[in-house]
Amino acid sequence: MTDSGYGSVAVVVPVYNEEAVVREFHARLSATLDGIEHLRTTVIYVNDGSNDHTLGILLALREQDPRIAIVNLSRNFGKEIALSAGLDYADADAVIVIDADLQDPPELIPEFLRLWEAGNDVVYGQRVSRRGETRLKKATAYLFYRVIQSLSRVHIPEDTGDFRLLSRRAVAALRSLREQHRYMKGLFSWIGYSQVALRYERAPRSAGTSKFNYLRLWAFALEGITSFSIAPLKIATYVGLGIAGLSFIGAALVFYKAMVYGDPVRGYPSLMVTNLFLSGVQLIGIGVLGEYLGRMFNESKNRPLYFVEEHIPAGMADDSRTLARLVSGTGSAIGIDREAQQQAVRIAGGI
Ligand code: UDP
Ligand code: MG
Repeated sequence: MTDSGYGSVAVVVPVYNEEAVVREFHARLSATLDGIEHLRTTVIYVNDGSNDHTLGILLALREQDPRIAIVNLSRNFGKEIALSAGLDYADADAVIVIDADLQDPPELIPEFLRLWEAGNDVVYGQRVSRRGETRLKKATAYLFYRVIQSLSRVHIPEDTGDFRLLSRRAVAALRSLREQHRYMKGLFSWIGYSQVALRYERAPRSAGTSKFNYLRLWAFALEGITSFSIAPLKIATYVGLGIAGLSFIGAALVFYKAMVYGDPVRGYPSLMVTNLFLSGVQLIGIGVLGEYLGRMFNESKNRPLYFVEEHIPAGMADDSRTLARLVSGTGSAIGIDREAQQQAVRIAGGI
C-alpha cells in the first residue's frame, strides 16, 4: 500500500477462444485503466486453453502494454477454474474479475474502485436488464435464482455474474477454498465480508459466441444447487416418507377390500400405476444421491485445480522486447499457429 492508502489493482480476465473480441476489449480496458492514476494496475489474462489465435493476440498486446500478465493454462479447464487461477496469480490490494466479451463494460471499473475505497470488501455487478438474451434464457435464469435462493442458506444475489471487485482479504479467503466443484457465484457470497451491489446495464456479447449452451447451463444450475444446498437429499427423504405413509393407507384399503368382499382379480391397472410410480420415485432418489456421491468422489481425489503451461508476469521492458523478437520471428503474432505460439511463450517464459 502506498501513502494514498491504496496501492494496486489487478484485473483478472478469463479468456477462451475470444480472438474476435479480445483486442477491442483490451483497448477499452486500457483506456479505462489509463484514467486511474492513483493505483498501480495490472491485467491478468488467463488463457483457458484457447484453440484459436487468442494467445497470439494476447502476446502481441502485451508488447504494447507492459501492464499485461498472461497465465496460460495447460488445457481448457472451464471459466470457473480459469478465474480461480487468475485470483491465485493476482497480488494486489483489489482484484476485479471481468469477462472478455464486453458484456461487462470495463468503463465501470472506476465505480467499482470507488465503492471499494468506501470500505467494501466485495463489490458485485448486478444486471439491471438482460438485453440480447432470449426470453427462454431470461426465464430459466429467473427460475434458477428463485430456486437456489429458497434452497440455500447462503444469500446468492440474483442477476449477478462474475463481474466484481474483491479486496485483498476477500481474494485470500477465496484462494483458500480449493474445492473442485466451484460454483463461483456461491463462493463469492459464502466468504462473507461487506458486500455491495453495483447495478449496471449488461450488454449483449460484442462478438464471438457464448460458450454456454443449455446443456451446460443445466449442469451449471445443478452445480449451484448441489454445492450450496443438501435440500434435494432431504426432499428425497420427505417424498419417501410421504409415499410410505400413503402406501400404508393404500395397503390397508386393499387388505380391507380383500377381506370383506373377497375381491380376487381386479387391480392390475392400479398395481401397474403404483409400481411404475414408485420405481420412478426411487430412481430419482438414487439419482439425487448419485449427484452428491459423484461430487464427493471428485473432491476426494484432491487433485490440483489446474496446471499452468506458462506464466508471463506483467512486463519488464527487457523481456517484453525479447518476446517481441521471438514472436515476430515466427511471423505476425496473429497469424502464427498454436504450436509456434506456445514455443515462443515457453522460451520467453524461461528468460
Ligand atoms: N471462458 C473461459 N473458459 C471457458 C468458457 C468461457 O475462460 O471454458 C471465458 C470467456 O472467454 C469469457 C467468459 O469466460 O471471457 C464468459 O464466457 P461466455 O461469454 O461464453 O459466457 P456467458 O456470458 O455466455 O455466460
Ligand atoms: Mg458472455
